[in-house]
Parts: sequence; structure tokens; C-alpha cells
Amino acid sequence: MSEMIAETAGHQNSSLGDQIVERINRLAKISETPEHLARVFLTPEHRAAAELILTWMRDAGLQAHIDAIGNVCGRYEGERPGLPCLMLGSHYDTVRDAGKWDGPLGLITAISCVADLHTRGRRLPFAIEVTGFADEEGVRFASTLLGSRAVAGTFNAHVLNSKDSAGISIRDALSEFGLDPDHIGAAARAPGELLAYVELHIEQGPVLEAENLPVGVVTAIAGATRLAVNLTGMAGHAGTVPMLLRRDALAGAAECITMIEELCRADEGGLVGTVGYIHAMPGATNVIPGQASFTIDLRAPTDVHRKRAVTDIVRHIEAVAKRRNLVLQVDVTHENRTVPCAPWLKAQVADAVAAEGYPVFELPSGAGHDAMAMIDIADIAMLFVRCRGGISHHPDEHVDMADVDAGARVLLRLIENFRPGAPFPDM
Ligand SMILES: [Zn+2]
Repeated sequence: MSEMIAETAGHQNSSLGDQIVERINRLAKISETPEHLARVFLTPEHRAAAELILTWMRDAGLQAHIDAIGNVCGRYEGERPGLPCLMLGSHYDTVRDAGKWDGPLGLITAISCVADLHTRGRRLPFAIEVTGFADEEGVRFASTLLGSRAVAGTFNAHVLNSKDSAGISIRDALSEFGLDPDHIGAAARAPGELLAYVELHIEQGPVLEAENLPVGVVTAIAGATRLAVNLTGMAGHAGTVPMLLRRDALAGAAECITMIEELCRADEGGLVGTVGYIHAMPGATNVIPGQASFTIDLRAPTDVHRKRAVTDIVRHIEAVAKRRNLVLQVDVTHENRTVPCAPWLKAQVADAVAAEGYPVFELPSGAGHDAMAMIDIADIAMLFVRCRGGISHHPDEHVDMADVDAGARVLLRLIENFRPGAPFPDM
């Protein structure tokens, strides 16, 4: 049924979708190599993409400039100049061998929505700003969200010294790009300037497709904990040590991995757990593994839930190690908090979805986004658009035209009906 609605609705106003897809394709041509899409922070491709986005913003009636970290920032004044803004945005950097929708869809859709208001001469009781973030993926410097952190005023000056694989520091790369590394603070916005931050993004997962829905309302960006686990047993001869006398670290790790998967599968609250790396020593066919190391990545929609799961899993691993007489070491290597979407703002996204004729479906985001940084300066919400097969960070990433259009119409409706969450004296 939702598909029928989507088709009908998409047919009524396909101009937004047409323009967005055409621009997605043009931006995708700006790449390190023609075969594999890669557009990385502070490179000639970054520059070329920023220039193209600037022209799109200006055509849409936004006053636009490149800020102190290389973000493209546009502003569409409200009923009178100088009003606080509803900020929309996403990133335009990519991973290597990327899809063309991750990031640009949200940015380009926002520009097209403003263009639509501009064409109709529509001004709202607040300003609209669109920000194209220059670095979200963190491909070049192994430090993510550099663009949005600069805007949120949380850019850590220590990272200026981190280097890319060629030994070039962020500081030098900024200078080379024509930006002053000592003035990144100029990109920071004051909290009072933003009424909210809303990001449209492809889902990067298969849930909306399974639900047969073009769009979904994000509840929160899931926090994550990463653990490094090391089990030490005793290496030995594969032929001479009887099974009952072994201290096989790899067999112990295998038991842990199965347990983690079972625990996560049994969870009904959206917990996901992944063991994505394992290494066994000494790593020979005829030697009992004396040592095994593996990683765990755990994510859940709330911090309480995730922390409970971490405790639970560590307790289970301890039990496995004890029973198998293995020495255990567990280290937390990474932890980031859950970023909730503000209930008042999420409700407005849901209203816009419903008003466009789609069922309101809520889901957490398992992937990180610029909104994670923007929450330090404003309440945030996100709208997800279905992507084919849930495939992302891959050249097969794809969004159907009808879904692009659905996302654009929901975002436009959200903008036009937007009401600030806190009483705002000037409105
Ligand atoms: Zn993204």
C-alpha cells in the first residue's frame, strides 16, 4: 500500500527528485579517479565539489561561502534579516570506492527545498541555513566529523597535528587549501543562532526496504562500544596433547563469538554486536592456538541498554575463560554516547511524513552522522530515505527516484511547518 502512495505522490511533483538526482550524478563525477568514487578532505576534489555546491546554493537564493574548515555554508533569510535558523545539512566527502548518495543526498535535497521556497518567494519566520560538511567520514586523517565539529565549536586543536598516509598534517593541508589552521574557531556557531539541526540521509541499512517504506524517522544515533579481547592458553602439539588437557585459546574465542551472536539475536531492543576481527597465534595447522585476540563492536539505541549488554557479554566471556583455563584481558578501545533525536523535533519530522501520506515508522541509526557533532550546539533530528538492499559505502549504493522525491517532499513540508521547540522571543 505504501508503495502505491509513494508512486502516486512521486508523480505529482517529480521536479524536486529530477533535479536532486541530476546533481547527485554531477557531484559523483568529482572524484580522485574516474573508476572509483573518492572525495577526500582538503584535496583538489574537495575544492571542486565545494565550488559546485556554492553555485547551487547561490542559484537557490542562499548567500553562500566556504567557512574556516572548508564547509560550504548557505543562508536563506527569513521574513527579516538576522533571525535564528533552522539548519539543514549533511556531508559531501566520501569513503574510497564510495556510493554517490551517502551525504550528498541530504545536502542536495536541502538546497533543492530552499530553491523551491525561493522560486515561490516564500519567506519563513526563521532563517534556513544549509551546511555541506567537508569531512564526516574521516578517511584522510583518521579523525571523523571534522567539519561538523568545527561548526559545533568542539573541534579539538590537537588533531591539527595528525597526519595522513603521506605524512601531511591537517595543519599543512589546511594552509595548502588556503585556510588558516589557527582560525578554525571562526567556523563555530553560537548556540543561540540555531533553532535546530535536521539531517536527511540514506538509511545505509535494509530496514526501510524490508518495511516497504520510502522514509523513516530516526529515534537516535546509536552509541557504540568497541572492545579488544585477548585470550591466552597454551600452545601445543596438535597430535600429542589429549583434548581434555588442552587450553585452546581459539576454541575459547569461537565459543565467545557464538555467545555474542546469540545474545544479540535474542535481544529485542535493537542491540547489534559484531566480531569483525580475529587473530590466532601461533597460527599453524598442527599447533594448538595458544593465543587468540578478537574485537567486539556493540551498538544499541540507548546508553543504558548498551552498557548493560557490555557488562553481560564481558561476564559471559569471563565464564568461558575460567572454564577453559584461559587468561583473559578485555580493553575498551572506543566508546561513544548515544545521540537522541529531540522528541519535539522528531514529532515534527513524523508529522511531515504523515502529511505526505506515508506511515510513520521509527528506527535507530546504527551508523554515525554529522548530527552526532551538531547535538553539542542544537537539538537534532534525522529523516532516513530507503536505499536499495541496505547497501552503502559501496558503488552499488542506490536510491530510487521516487524515494528521493518522497524524502524531498517530507523535508520541504517539515521546513514549511517548522515551529521552534523553545519559545523564541523574536517570533
Ligand atoms: Zn554519511
